[in-house]
Amino acid sequence: MKTLPSLALLAVAVALGYWMLRDAVQVRPSAIPAAAASGETAIATPTVSPAAAPAAAQSQAEATIPAPPPTVADTPPTPPAASAEPTAAVPANSAADLLIPVQGVTRDQLQDTFTDARSQGRRHDAIDILAPAGTPVLAVADGSVEKLFDSERGGLTVYQFEPSGRYAYYYAHLQSYADGLAEKQPIRRGQVLGYVGSTGNADPGAPHLHFEVHRLGPERQWWKGESLNPYPLLRGEQRL
Ligand SMILES: [Zn+2]
Repeated sequence: MKTLPSLALLAVAVALGYWMLRDAVQVRPSAIPAAAASGETAIATPTVSPAAAPAAAQSQAEATIPAPPPTVADTPPTPPAASAEPTAAVPANSAADLLIPVQGVTRDQLQDTFTDARSQGRRHDAIDILAPAGTPVLAVADGSVEKLFDSERGGLTVYQFEPSGRYAYYYAHLQSYADGLAEKQPIRRGQVLGYVGSTGNADPGAPHLHFEVHRLGPERQWWKGESLNPYPLLRGEQRL
């Protein structure tokens, strides 16, 4: 007789608990669909209205479409301008870029003559930069004079090693060297190495600097290396 009332109480408690829990559980699911439904309606409403008024929306859409293109058009000009500024500033500021080795010549005046054919089936493997005889020839980068050489084809030439010794720069057809220029001399980017001329096999009527960039082998021999096209390097489009 003691257990019966307590069992009844327990049953009532369980029933109450179930009732309350069921209410709580029911409230939530019913609230969520309601919210979801309102969300769907909110989403559906805008979708419906453009679709409902396609003709009217078309003129609106045309008005709206031109709006994004201006923003898109506005965006590209910014990157080119931003990229143009660094590239324009780079040759002047960054020692990582090669200086154009003929004074007064801009990169837009350069012509890519790297793959031009030369006598005896040779490839040019260089860039020719035309300039009046006597125009200063400038070091494209820091480094040192490895070799001053007077060759049949190149005339008066300078072989410059850059500091790591992995690359060499070759300047040919010089009219003369800068005063005091000597082998093993350290040189700075922009330093005058000599003057444009037409020594060697260059056409006397078209004085120019013949300029090459070499990737040296492990033996670091000034007369031996793989030719790299100086054109993109001088234009700041590539770096060594
Ligand atoms: Zn040449």
